[in-house]
Amino acid sequence: MSEHGVESLLSRNGRAVLAAVQSRPRCSRADVARATGLSTSAVSALVSSLIDAGLLLELGTKPPAGGGRPSVSLGLAPRAGSLIGIHLGHADLRVVLTSLDGTLITEQRHVLDVDHQPAASLDRVARSTADLVENADLDLGRVLGVGVAVSAPVVGSRQLSSPPMLLDWGGVDIGGILAERTGLPVHLANDASLGALAEWRLGAGNGVDDLVYVMLGEGVGCGLILGGRLHTGASGMAGELGHLAVVPDGKVCRCGARGCLETLVSKRALVSALAHTLGPTATVESLLDLGDAGDRGARRLLSDAGQVLGTALAGVCTITDPRLVVVGGDLTARPDSSNALLAAASQALDSALPPVASHEIRVVRAQLGARAEALGAALLAGSRAGGRVA
Ligand SMILES: [Zn+2]
Repeated sequence: MSEHGVESLLSRNGRAVLAAVQSRPRCSRADVARATGLSTSAVSALVSSLIDAGLLLELGTKPPAGGGRPSVSLGLAPRAGSLIGIHLGHADLRVVLTSLDGTLITEQRHVLDVDHQPAASLDRVARSTADLVENADLDLGRVLGVGVAVSAPVVGSRQLSSPPMLLDWGGVDIGGILAERTGLPVHLANDASLGALAEWRLGAGNGVDDLVYVMLGEGVGCGLILGGRLHTGASGMAGELGHLAVVPDGKVCRCGARGCLETLVSKRALVSALAHTLGPTATVESLLDLGDAGDRGARRLLSDAGQVLGTALAGVCTITDPRLVVVGGDLTARPDSSNALLAAASQALDSALPPVASHEIRVVRAQLGARAEALGAALLAGSRAGGRVA
């Protein structure tokens, strides 16, 4: 597979040019030179060969911001290349095939005990990747890379931080195994970080360069876009909001501490609170069904969760000063139920922010649903295709 891989098709600098065009709509050759650090003559030569290869298009001229000659803006040719995004959830995995701008081409989802079956999960991912590329009748040589969203902090681009939150995945070289199985460059990041990337580039946060994304699922994930860049921190721990202590003598969390946010706000916490009235068969779907039907108990649970979340977000927002909080994940799967949660979160955030906060921070529901993290993984693969960080 490797002799047909991307390395044989594009030079490193060629991929850097494609990545620059991908992340900057209608950019010029000069914009690409600034973004990549390559000389203008090198960029001109690379752009010419990428146009000849059918990967780039000239879109027309645009007037320069500061006067002078108009420049020709560049864009990706349709199907210039594609990306694979993978989300390793706890109980399912999703593999998406997208174009270079993150537009979904096709996808597969498999229900699997991902938490406890690393080998079977990676095997399924590798087979899905090959199937998707083959079924879409695409050339594997134009798949520029694979991104993987994992529900654990990630160090650099390849390693789960130690000790991993996914206990059965400790020591598993996800990047290395998938690179060998697919023949493609593989990059890892935390799933909530990649959800943030996707909602920023493709969803509810499009065009907002300072936003906080919260993923309410098995736990509480959080991703940060600051100044138009994904911020993951020195050790991949940025946004580990779920393990912020919010109740001094609260329940013991899976991380070993007491009173973490996720002991009150996660899917697991809300379903177990509902078990008192619905019995042990309660699920998140039954909670959301009741919430949509206007059940007072379910609405109470959702708005209480929103209130705790909003108060916890006040700290995050005081430090990061975002314009927008985007809330996604399984608990926001239905618009009516999530309204109860979001309205309470917005109100609690507003009243807990210090008076010096000079602008309103909007709290909105995510737009990409359960697909956000996999799409973000594909975008990560695209942004790293040229060796650059998102
Ligand atoms: Zn915890």
